[in-house]
Amino acid sequence: MSSPDSAPQRPPQSPSGPAGQPGTEPLTPVAGALVEFLAEARVPTEHGSFTMKLFREKATGLEHVAMVMGDVAGSALVRVHSECMTGDVFGSLRCDCGPQLHFAMNEIGKRGSGVVVYLRQEGRGIGLANKLRAYQLQDQGLDTVEANQHLGFAADLRKFDTAAEILATLGVKSVKLMTNNPRKVDTLREHGVAIEERVPVRSDVQPENERYLGTKARKLGHHIDWLG
Ligand SMILES: [Zn+2]
Repeated sequence: MSSPDSAPQRPPQSPSGPAGQPGTEPLTPVAGALVEFLAEARVPTEHGSFTMKLFREKATGLEHVAMVMGDVAGSALVRVHSECMTGDVFGSLRCDCGPQLHFAMNEIGKRGSGVVVYLRQEGRGIGLANKLRAYQLQDQGLDTVEANQHLGFAADLRKFDTAAEILATLGVKSVKLMTNNPRKVDTLREHGVAIEERVPVRSDVQPENERYLGTKARKLGHHIDWLG
């Protein structure tokens, strides 16, 4: 005799299958599927006062950041920025990451609202050690794409599904995306982020990064219209 209490019960889930399964349908971010919220605090910067919200990516343990200013529910000015320690922290002139990050924070400060999603995927996803090895190869004459391929990596391993989920968690429904990278626009759109417009990001061309920026324009499809 089985009591009603011990009868097996179906979990209260929809029968449409688990979230995050790969497929051809446009994905809708599910809050909490990929990342969990860890902590937040106010961080005043030279561009204004942001709330720094820290998320942990469950699959990798990577800690991603959203720098949030003002009311971002609905439509927001957004940059999705991948970590570049050399450029963001140390001001390396080998790339334009630092100026792009600060351009974005400055634009958000001028507007009074927006989000920088800062993803900890260093060196287009290959990690800092391999990025430094790639720099060595570039100093021997390879360009940034050839160097990554020489090391056995695709030109760009970055993924942006976590960014889509973080934006959804913040209530951002559609974005004015500050980027020169059309792939980033497409990828975020595939993950359920509505793109209102692409806002070009200007950064200064210098002798040390001219070749890098030219390669990004030619081989990675970036819109860098002001390059000669
Ligand atoms: Zn960089």
